Amino acid sequence: MASPVSADTIELLNDPVQGGLVKGQVPAGSALELDGKEIQVTAEGRFVFGFNRDDTEARVLAARFPDGSKAEKSVRPGKREFRVQEIDGLPPEQVTPPDDVLERIRSEARLVARARDRFEGHEDWVEGFDWPVEGRISGEYGSQRILNGEPRQPHFGVDIAAPDGTPIKAPAGGVVSMTHEDMYFSGATLVVDHGHGVSTTYLHMSEISVEPGQRVHRGDLLGKVGATGRATGPHLCWRMNWGSTRVDPALLAPPME
Ligand SMILES: [Zn+2]
Repeated sequence: MASPVSADTIELLNDPVQGGLVKGQVPAGSALELDGKEIQVTAEGRFVFGFNRDDTEARVLAARFPDGSKAEKSVRPGKREFRVQEIDGLPPEQVTPPDDVLERIRSEARLVARARDRFEGHEDWVEGFDWPVEGRISGEYGSQRILNGEPRQPHFGVDIAAPDGTPIKAPAGGVVSMTHEDMYFSGATLVVDHGHGVSTTYLHMSEISVEPGQRVHRGDLLGKVGATGRATGPHLCWRMNWGSTRVDPALLAPPME
């Protein structure tokens, strides 16, 4: 028999932190708002949203339960420390991309943003995520470089060092929302949509084995590790997003070996 005590609650299934995806549970049939805007809830009452790297403010979840009662929950992200590295004395052309590629960089960024800003009904994110490739972590989410005194955009992926040609496997089911063979920074780039705004991105690939619109299942081959775009050696830069919010995939994948 169900316990009446926990009937009408908004339950979080993991600790909310900066750069973290928050998964939660409400009674099936509930409606849910995040800061006054409705968010998706699965038939079983599961929901998801994300915090940005630098978020410090609480966000407010407001639920309307099937019996008509209501509840609110304020969710504040726990603070994390991110690595900051200052490098001075670099030649200026290494710090600022040349003018003639700026337009290309902007239009490629718009393509990726559009692929991430989808809130489809499929629920593959619920099952969690595996590592798409196993290997040494050579770059962490949230780390930032300050080049010649200019703060760069933080690193929003997890870099996994692996030999050129290593298979990249789908960490969860989803639908391929974008492929691009040659982006300026990220080379061959892929985005997979796992539903409810959750997507994963794969950078610097040597080969893409899937097509836009294709449904993939956990473990399917997505492509191969490479060093395309601006990469110093073969690795997978793996990223995770909730809409335009970039989150840390390492917080969700299981411990490696
Ligand atoms: Zn990276």
